[in-house]
This record gives sequence, C-alpha cells and structure tokens, in this order.
Amino acid sequence: MRWSETFIPTLREMPAEAETISHQLLLRAGYIRQVAAGIYSYLPLAQRSVLKISQIIREEMNRIGGQEFFLPVLHPRELWEESGRWEIMGDNMFRLKDRAGRDMCLGMTHEEVITDIARHELRSYKQLPQTWYQIQTKFRDEARPKGGLLRVRQFTMKDAYSFHTSWESLDETYQQQYRAYSRIYDRCGLRYIAVKADTGAMGGKDSHEFSALIDVGEDLIVHCEHCGYGANREMAISRAPVVDDQPAPDRPEKFPTPGIRTIAALETFPGGAEAHRQIKTLVYMVDEQPVLVCVRGDHTVNEAALARLFGAEARFYPAHPGQIVAAMGANAGSLGPVGVSGLRIVVDEALRGRKNMTTGANEDDFHIRGVVVDRDFKGEYQQVRLVEEGDFCINCGKPIRMWKGLEVGQIFKLGVRYSQTMKATVLNEKGEAVPMIMGCYGIGVERILAAAIEQNHDENGMILPVSIAPFSVIVNVVNMGDPESVRAAERITTALEAAGIDVLLDDRDERPGVKFKDNDLIGIPLRVTLGPKKLKEGKAEIYIRAKRESVDVALDEVAARVQAALESSTPQTKE
Ligand code: ATP
Ligand code: MG
Repeated sequence: MRWSETFIPTLREMPAEAETISHQLLLRAGYIRQVAAGIYSYLPLAQRSVLKISQIIREEMNRIGGQEFFLPVLHPRELWEESGRWEIMGDNMFRLKDRAGRDMCLGMTHEEVITDIARHELRSYKQLPQTWYQIQTKFRDEARPKGGLLRVRQFTMKDAYSFHTSWESLDETYQQQYRAYSRIYDRCGLRYIAVKADTGAMGGKDSHEFSALIDVGEDLIVHCEHCGYGANREMAISRAPVVDDQPAPDRPEKFPTPGIRTIAALETFPGGAEAHRQIKTLVYMVDEQPVLVCVRGDHTVNEAALARLFGAEARFYPAHPGQIVAAMGANAGSLGPVGVSGLRIVVDEALRGRKNMTTGANEDDFHIRGVVVDRDFKGEYQQVRLVEEGDFCINCGKPIRMWKGLEVGQIFKLGVRYSQTMKATVLNEKGEAVPMIMGCYGIGVERILAAAIEQNHDENGMILPVSIAPFSVIVNVVNMGDPESVRAAERITTALEAAGIDVLLDDRDERPGVKFKDNDLIGIPLRVTLGPKKLKEGKAEIYIRAKRESVDVALDEVAARVQAALESSTPQTKE
C-alpha cells in the first residue's frame, strides 16, 4: 500500500487529553480518534493491528478445537433475568427499549446467550465437550473509562465457553485454554504473568488472570521468578522477613500514652516502638459479631483474605466506633488482643513467635509493651495481610517481586452457575438430566494492542512487535523527485508483497525529516530507505526500529534480508 493513498492522520503535537503513553501514541500516530468518553473509532492502522491480534487468537482457539460463533449484541431482558444478572450488572449495563417497549441490553458478556443455545440444542453427554467462541463487540458502561484503549466502554472481546459432563473434562479444556492464552500473549510479544484470581462471589472453582506488566496497570501482582508462583496481591500469600526481637520481660507492662492513637505516633513516642514491633488490632463485624484481627504495625489487612476466611455467605464490615467501644471498652487506636476473652481473634502469620511487642491496652491513652504472642494472648493464625515488597515466596522462599499489571484475559471454571439457574441440562450415561459443567474464557483484543504499546515505545513513538504491527515494513523513498529511487522502491515493495509481507510504501512528497519522524511514530518494525546517495552504490538501508540499528544492503538482497529480519524478530511461543 502507498502512504499517499492511505489515511494516516499523524499529529505533530501531543494531544492534551491523553493520559497514558499508549493513549498519546495511538492518537498521535493516527490509529484512533475519540467519539465520546471511552468510545473510539479505529482508523486503518488500528484496524489492521486489531485484525492481526484477532487472527492470532482465532488460530489458537481453532487449534484447541474451538468453534467460532457470532452471537448478537442485542439481548432481551428475559435471558438476563433468568441468570439473575439483570439486577447484578447495575449501571455497568447499557439498557434500552425496543419499539414495543420491551427491555433490551447491549451484551457485556455472553454466558446467558450461549447457555440459552446450549440448553435448547445439546441433549446428551455424547455431544460433549463443546468449546464455542466468538470475537465480538462488548459494551460496558465503565465508571471511569480511561487511558485510551486500556479501559473503554465499547471493545472487542474473544469470549469462549465450554460445556462438559464432568469436572475432569472441564479441567482438561481449562488447561488447553490456559496454554492457548499463553501462546496468544507470547505471539503478540507481550510481557505478562498468569496469576490465580479470586473467584469472588461467583462461586466458581479455579480462575486465572493474565496480566500484562505495564506501569499504568491497576493490579499489583506478586511473582516469584524462581518457582513461577504468581498471584494478585489480594490473593497472594508470602513469608515476611524474620524480625529479631529483644527478649521480653516476664510480664507485659501497661504504660500511659496520652493522645497516642496511631501506629506512627507510637513510633516516635518515648517508650513506644517501631511499627514492625507493634501489633495493629482491628475490629470487624462478621454477621454482627465482633471479631479481632491482628497484624504487624507496618502491615495492611487484606480484606479479600478476610472475605475468603469468613466465607462467601458472611456479611462483614469494619466495626463502627460505637461497636468498637461496646466490644472492647476503648476506642480505635488503643486496642489490643491481650486480656480479651470471648471473641474470635485472627492473628496474622507474620506475628507468629514474636516477642516484646507493643499494642493497645483496651483503655484509651494506654498501651502495653513486652507482649509475647501465644503467651499473653492466643488466636487462630491466618495470612490476612497484604504481601509487601521484600517478602519471600511462600513456595520456595526466594525473594518475590511486585509488578503493576493490567488484566488482558481471564479464564474461569464456572461449574454449574449458569446451567443450574438457566436449566441447561443434558442426559448423562444413566439417562438422568444433569446440569452441564461450564468454563468461560475471555480476552480483550484492543487491550493487547494498548498494553503492547505501553511496553514497547521510545521517545520517537511506538515499536510494535512484528506479529501485531499494522505493516511489517515501510519502504521510504527519501526523494520522490528522483525517478531511480522511486523505481527501486517500487521493485522492492512488489517483491516483498509477493512474499506475503505487509508493506507500506512511503511515497509522500515530503521533507525526509517529516517522513522519518512519522515512520518512527507509527511503530513499524522495519524500514527500508532508498536515498540517492546509497543508490549510486547500488544499496538501500535496512533499519530495525526496536534495535535502532541499520545496515546497508545491496538492492537485490533487500527482500531476502528483510524476510530474514522479520522472521528472527517475530515473537515466538515459549513451548
Ligand atoms: P477489568 O477487571 O479490567 O474491568 P474484567 O475482569 O471486568 O476486567 P472480564 O469480564 O474478565 O473483564 O473480560 C475479559 C477481558 O476483556 C479482560 O481480561 C480485558 O482484557 C477485557 N476488558 C474488560 N473490560 C474492558 C474494558 N472496559 N476495556 C477494554 N477491555 C476490557
Ligand atoms: Mg476479569
């Protein structure tokens, strides 16, 4: 294709509204334009890239036996009523009415629609397993759309659903999907980590999230490079570094701390203690009963861990000031576990074996020091704190690392969550009607593009992986006034196109500086430059964007060298 005939509206200036690098570059490089908050038009470059990503996903889904569907975006209310999600989805769901006044919505996901097909069409265990997928537009009225394509209100998702009669069969498909997802991100050139995800209120069994590692990621991911352990911070557990405690006195000692209400204030108070030598005590109401939760002074309670501990059915919340005083006889800031009886006490694992600690005395303006855990109070040990930088891996003991990530995909063992409520049954071998066991598997297509840009750019623009770049090569004619350059460029373009390579011929009659700047900005991995000087020696220049390296190559070798360079820089799967 010729640049002069292609719509690539690059911008000189940094768009003021752009919040993240990928957002800025997608606008500047003429990939996207905003229509309204979180709603974008994809111009030709973005569309080419999105189609390439979709094709990689399609190939990997087909390879594991996925069958491609195309389901509607418009859904009737009744289906979502059946699953109970018409209510649950709340403001995130775009709702509308048809001309007869019937409630409809725009699909944010397709469990309801796919389960409806399955229950009408699948009759017998003999027809299972099935894996059905689509690559479709999804609508979500996100509270805070942001970051260009990172979080939008209309986006493309590959969503797959599998149907089984046994958990073993689901496990097998789940593993296949897991590997297919890994191959997809590898092939797209993304740096990512797969982590166990919280199944939350969905009540499903296993779930994994795949997170692209980017600075503007919303999730904190705990990862051990040594053994591969990975989890979202809410799910993660770890070992805290051992603290050297001073020997404790025989008995704990109460001491006055007038006005001291925080860990930080007690740190600097004469006779106080450093944060990691304090016990922070919090009161939660669990089904209206007070429960004490103790963590180290410098640690933070992980409420997701508490939710798992108390159980999906439990209603819990931080106790109100009145409830705290009623349960403990003192206000928050002066609480501690010593001398408490009749209450459930949850003690974080990092407090195990600790001596000579300081904590609240359950009397305003007093604390206790010299506290020995298990001597002066007892509780049930659980890991209920958030993992911190500097902790060690729970599996192998090596140091863990924390990354910022953004979810680019999630896979989920749904079990019978939808088949039960929507009565999607098949006959098993004994002729009994049993609900189908389901899995679901989603990937955000544009998010892969945006995350790839976040990961691969420099001050001049994007540097896209070959596999997802809109074009693999730019052929740049430095001087369009030189017929020989033009002829050579056209010959090379034709040869590369004949080899199946996506080539963009930059045939604009512009200053070379402008052209090179644009070429860099749009992130095409290779550039072939035809300038009059090198042409006289029978040569062209090949420039590798990611390495910022260039070589001069004889004209008749250009096509072969470009092909070789593309092959060696195409991201590979790790398997
Ligand atoms: P998030 O936690 O980021 O809101 P989610 O868990 O709600 O995502 P899923 O329902 O698991 O998302 O959807 C599958 C995939 O679709 C996500 O992994 C993500 O890649 C993509 N996705 C979800 N919401 C958006 C959005 N608003 N904009 C772009 N992509 C999205
Ligand atoms: Mg998700």
